[in-house]
Amino acid sequence: MKVLIVYAHENPASFNGAMKDTAVEVLTAQGHEVQVSDLYAQGFNPVGGKHDFTELSGAEFYKYQAEQVAAGRSGTFATDVQAEMDKLVWADLVLFQFPLWWFHLPAILKGWMDRVLASGFAYGNGQMFDRGKLAGKRAACAITTGGPAAFYPDLAETLKPIMFGILYFTGLQVLPPFGAHAPAQADDATRTQMLADYRAHVEQLASAEPLQYPTMAEMGMG
Ligand SMILES: Cc1cc2nc3c(=O)[nH]c(=O)nc-3n(C[C@H](O)[C@H](O)[C@H](O)COP(=O)(O)OP(=O)(O)OC[C@H]3O[C@@H](n4cnc5c(N)ncnc54)[C@H](O)[C@@H]3O)c2cc1C
Repeated sequence: MKVLIVYAHENPASFNGAMKDTAVEVLTAQGHEVQVSDLYAQGFNPVGGKHDFTELSGAEFYKYQAEQVAAGRSGTFATDVQAEMDKLVWADLVLFQFPLWWFHLPAILKGWMDRVLASGFAYGNGQMFDRGKLAGKRAACAITTGGPAAFYPDLAETLKPIMFGILYFTGLQVLPPFGAHAPAQADDATRTQMLADYRAHVEQLASAEPLQYPTMAEMGMG
């Protein structure tokens, strides 16, 4: 299995850094190929705009999504976007590692979604959800929180805007998420246990069953 880890934390010594390192170690030991997109280290620009393209389509009315479609056809995505798309095409499983910010993605990772999961590349022209362009690949989220576990009785529900609204929308099969809650408040033994739990979670990722979201047909969309 080819695994892309998209990692969004500034500090390699953070708990997110430890989780990312754990995943790399476990997956590599299992014989999988692993690439890491370390967004802060790469200086990834999270703001989608005209700089995403090496040339514009020339349409009279500028529209970002339409330019994404045109760039996909003409091979004119900027190199930073294209490099991430190439990794995504390569991957069988994409693992997103991030701290929860305002119950959502940190901006640098939200921007990766905006720019890399482009119209025409990841979805579009009626291709979404189970018919999305990334169908056949799998994705999983691994997060840390500041709040305790009691804030998050159903993590898949908390992360639904990400897991359903973004990842499944593009056709990715979404695996159950993993949450490490309040690592900054925990003692060393608890943090060590959380990493051991995460190690066990990563060990079963290759065979994990995806969450069951409705198909386009079940949603009455043809
Ligand atoms: C803008 C913003 C919005 C936020 N919104 C939310 C929100 O909506 N909900 C919410 O719950 N929280 C929220 N938070 C808090 C945030 O989610 C947490 O601060 C973050 O998830 C903690 O993870 P970390 O990796 O940064 O932890 P860190 O603080 O980096 O790490 C915690 C501890 O783990 C230790 N550690 C590192 N490696 C290891 C190791 N190998 N073994 C043992 N210990 C280790 C570190 O030394 C550190 O002491 C928000 C924060 C910000 C900045």
